[in-house]
Amino acid sequence: MVDMNIIHSKIDSFRDEMIEMQRELTARPALGPLNGGTGEHDKADFAKKQLVALRPDNLLEINAPDKLAANGYRPNLVATWNGTREGRNVWILSHLDIVPPGDLSLWKTDPYKMVVEGDTIIGRGVEDNQHGMVSSYFSLKAIIDLNVQFSGKINLAFVADEETGSRFGLEYLVREKKELFSEDDLIIVPDGGNDEGTMIEIAEKAMLWLKFTVKGVQCHASTPEKGKNSLFAMAMLILEMGKLKEKFNIKDPVFRPEESTFEPTKVEANVPNVNTIPGRDVFYLDCRILPDYTVDDIIEEATKISKNLETNLDLQIDIEPIHRQDAAPSTPADSPVVAILEDAIERVTGLKAKPMGIGGGTVAAFFRNAGLPAAVWSTTSPTAHQPNEYCSIKNLISDAKVMSTVFLNDEKSS
Ligand SMILES: [Zn+2]
Repeated sequence: MVDMNIIHSKIDSFRDEMIEMQRELTARPALGPLNGGTGEHDKADFAKKQLVALRPDNLLEINAPDKLAANGYRPNLVATWNGTREGRNVWILSHLDIVPPGDLSLWKTDPYKMVVEGDTIIGRGVEDNQHGMVSSYFSLKAIIDLNVQFSGKINLAFVADEETGSRFGLEYLVREKKELFSEDDLIIVPDGGNDEGTMIEIAEKAMLWLKFTVKGVQCHASTPEKGKNSLFAMAMLILEMGKLKEKFNIKDPVFRPEESTFEPTKVEANVPNVNTIPGRDVFYLDCRILPDYTVDDIIEEATKISKNLETNLDLQIDIEPIHRQDAAPSTPADSPVVAILEDAIERVTGLKAKPMGIGGGTVAAFFRNAGLPAAVWSTTSPTAHQPNEYCSIKNLISDAKVMSTVFLNDEKSS
């Protein structure tokens, strides 16, 4: 039986190396073509060298063809270490790509020159998703350096294209390299969670974005009888859409929030001046739907509500679903990956983690749609995609300890 304290002390000793790896990764901006870059190649080359240093039994470079990227492909890396005994395979999958820094004036430092301030490191990508890359890498390095035996295979995957849809990343892997994965594998995606590390995300709501265009008749504001005020109708319509909440009101305590949500969000500009009654208004509704309902149920009801108002106000309302993502099947709350992760988290942090569902889609959906139960977990700082993105060093170390505990879990071999 391995003494986990020795492994955890080893991980503590990697603190400076973790920071250095974060610095090197941050200095290699990995932006996909749809985010104004050429791909993840430099960062993948660096990551590959690091993986090779841990002498994997197998290292796959899986290049997903992408005409828009440098050299016509997007790089994906899968490194595998074979255990000495039979057992479940473990996967930790992180993504190489980042989102652009956005407005540079909002950054206090250069986004691509990482800085350390106390327990935090700041830079684009340090949290999303270098946190996952670095934690998983050093969790394994401790085991390799100490020559600790484990069962099954340990796999680290660093994939491309998470931020712009995963077509050239996980979606490609799951489709083209299906044989790599088995439904018995323990799959962890450290790309979401909460700041305590107690949230294991196993389910997600379906997503639907509806665009409403209200067409009235524009006229001078002093003679409203000559027109049909589309802004007034739009306001009515927004209120009417509140009926969605009443009708689709099932609650599921696995989810945060527990119910489906239907939120009006974006409004397009209408008339530029105050003394004109607008004849056209556009707004959008963001819907996050529990698995108890289908996306089509929602579209049907929203259409019915619009039609009623159209008749009552005698103007035209068009509805267009501009984006929909039907929910992937949930990872069962009693699946081995959840139990083993819960146990590892409690052993390292003393905290009880819980399986939960969230409103936004994660990359784990590609696993789940392929019948592979994946859990999304990490101890996150809530700064992904924001300026001055930061990552806690304490969390990097603690998450690495949890991962090493998962790698060595005895239950894994049963
Ligand atoms: Zn991410």
